[in-house]
Amino acid sequence: MAFDYDLFVIGGGSGGVRAARIAAGEHGAKVALAEQDRMGGTCVIRGCVPKKLMVFASSFRDGLAEARAYGWDASAGGFDWPAFRSRLDAELDRLEAVYRSGLAAAGVTVFDARATVEDAHCVRLATGRSVTARHILIATGGRPFVPEAAARAGVLTSNDIFRLPALPRSVLIVGGGFIACEFACILNGMGVKVTQLYRGGQILRGFDNEARDHVAEHMRAAGIDLRTGCDVASVGTVEAGARVVATDGQEAVFGKVVYATGRVPNTEGLGLEAAGVKLGQRGEVVVDEWSQTAVPSIYAVGDVTDRINLTPVAIREGHAFADTVFGARPVKVDHGLVPTAVFTRPEFGTVGLTEEDARAAGPVEVYATTFRPMRSAFAGRPDRALMKLVVAADTRRVLGCHIVAPEAGEMIQLAAVAIGMGATKEDFDRTVAVHPVMAEELVTLRKPVRSA
Ligand code: FAD
Repeated sequence: MAFDYDLFVIGGGSGGVRAARIAAGEHGAKVALAEQDRMGGTCVIRGCVPKKLMVFASSFRDGLAEARAYGWDASAGGFDWPAFRSRLDAELDRLEAVYRSGLAAAGVTVFDARATVEDAHCVRLATGRSVTARHILIATGGRPFVPEAAARAGVLTSNDIFRLPALPRSVLIVGGGFIACEFACILNGMGVKVTQLYRGGQILRGFDNEARDHVAEHMRAAGIDLRTGCDVASVGTVEAGARVVATDGQEAVFGKVVYATGRVPNTEGLGLEAAGVKLGQRGEVVVDEWSQTAVPSIYAVGDVTDRINLTPVAIREGHAFADTVFGARPVKVDHGLVPTAVFTRPEFGTVGLTEEDARAAGPVEVYATTFRPMRSAFAGRPDRALMKLVVAADTRRVLGCHIVAPEAGEMIQLAAVAIGMGATKEDFDRTVAVHPVMAEELVTLRKPVRSA
């Protein structure tokens, strides 16, 4: 049977764009891609990129205070959100154009429309047109999940923060995951009074416990009213914003309420189940190690598969799919040892096993230190950095590295190379320190603080 395309990609985010570009540009496939919103997807338009730019913007208040301590005659006026936002919008327009021109250069046909799956080889566009393809790739990502009652009260999600016409004076952030914590720190840095409620015992569930405690302590010290073990009991609209009653009985009015209570895969109404594609409990597309679904011609990559929901992982999966299916070069993505950073203040970089998971797997030695980084200590700031290595007692291999410090994301990227190569504690010890930098602590950790 002759198909219109070799590959039809649904979703122009990190995973879909990479798959389309590699399949068409490197392997010569005839490729089309449908995007219902803006090209670039979550990461570029309403995730990693605008968020990181907001992290930068929010860091200058402390930076200016530090500058004064270093002798500069510097003072901050107010933070001009509309001025920042118009530059941010322009940057996102620029990046979207880069994504579009990359697809055009690779010869990918783009449809600016929602697409749904009709059957194993057919996609229907919202324009009414049907298109056939030998392979279909589902790369539709995910979206914020908001409980029904909160949604009825008109609360915001992370998507809305980038589009706020003005910054509120106060905000309530609900949730304890990395997105909730990052926005709490960003808005706090921009001068907004931040309260954060999280129903669990500690923020950043799933990460190393000692690092979670360290981040939480610094967030509180920075002035964020972080209340764990506490949720929203009710939320209602008032003239000044939203009146919220918390489960601890406290009641307050906030300019805005932001729910960052998790994300769900975008599979609703896609026609996947009718086509024979299996979905999991959260609505995620179930795939095998090749990202292939229960229908052999349909694959899925990225957040819609709910494996590890990070941009570099979606990109890897999209690339591996294109190489496997169109490049005759079978590639599986290794989902172990994925490094990541949480852009709180201070930043948190992590790779490998938490101390808790490592202990459950076998005997470990834990090497950790906290110290005042030179730069902030000089400025009289109380911040402390945490550097931690979790080491297998028998093989001496470093199983996990957890860093809470300024620029921890930059540091963990490099530590991940060594740990991925199987570095032992003695390999770290053999490495000569760079002085004076924070990361030298990683190669000068002499004695375990705990072993079990
Ligand atoms: P997406 O990027 O979500 O792209 C999916 C695309 O499909 C979207 O453009 C959507 O409009 C489109 N689409 C959906 N349905 C259809 C349809 N039926 N027809 C046509 N188009 C459709 N990751 C990191 O690695 N580092 C970070 O610092 C980081 N920060 C983040 C901050 C925030 C606030 C958020 C929300 C996420 C962040 N992430 C981060 C996660 C990262 O953005 C995602 O893992 C990544 O974007 C997933 O890529 P994807 O291709 O799977 O999906």
